[in-house]
Amino acid sequence: MLLLTALLLLPLAAEPIRVQITTGGHPYDLSFYGIFEGQGDLAITVNPHPSAYRRDLRKFVDVLVLYNLADTEGESERKNLRAFLESGRGMVVLHHAIADNWQWKWWYEEVVGGRFLMDQDGAMRRSTARNNEVMAVRPVAKHPVLEGVGAMRLDDETYKGMWISPRSRVLLETDNPTSDKAVAWISPYDKSRVVVIQLGHGPKTHRDPVYRKLVRNTILWAAGKLNDQ
Ligand SMILES: [Zn+2]
Repeated sequence: MLLLTALLLLPLAAEPIRVQITTGGHPYDLSFYGIFEGQGDLAITVNPHPSAYRRDLRKFVDVLVLYNLADTEGESERKNLRAFLESGRGMVVLHHAIADNWQWKWWYEEVVGGRFLMDQDGAMRRSTARNNEVMAVRPVAKHPVLEGVGAMRLDDETYKGMWISPRSRVLLETDNPTSDKAVAWISPYDKSRVVVIQLGHGPKTHRDPVYRKLVRNTILWAAGKLNDQ
């Protein structure tokens, strides 16, 4: 009886946040998965292309984490992505995934609030990437995603010449000359929480404890588990 009473007094265990990591279209180091180690409150599935968006994501996923580089061209895949985002579920766009769907205007303008140009587009030149760059990165906003996240000194791959929406809320900046100034932002999308982090090319960044904290925070916030400020 005593045991039963004790059990009843225990708070109900929170349901884990269902995370789908989308991969495919770009190689990456296995160290990437270390970012998610030891987080029992996340139930993580890795779903690469071409199966990534084949199902109705709303039924299985709370937060999409993108670490792919692909254009979603199938009508049903686009429909599933749209439905997922319009339902209010969150998304975290990591590093090379900023180049996903770089010609899908709704995607880069409304949802991501940024765009890595894989090629020239009218007057806009293609964006550039440069690996093995030392980057001093500093927070420039007050936001739940930055809770416990201080300045970082990373050895990472920089991107330059991206289009970043003036409506995006910049979270992190760097002064590295081979990089755009903004390296993380909250997108202007108002139907769900979308966070973009340019950083995250290889093992050095994947293993950085501050970077890991940042990614964890973004997933929790995208899932609606961190209070807004
Ligand atoms: Zn990279």
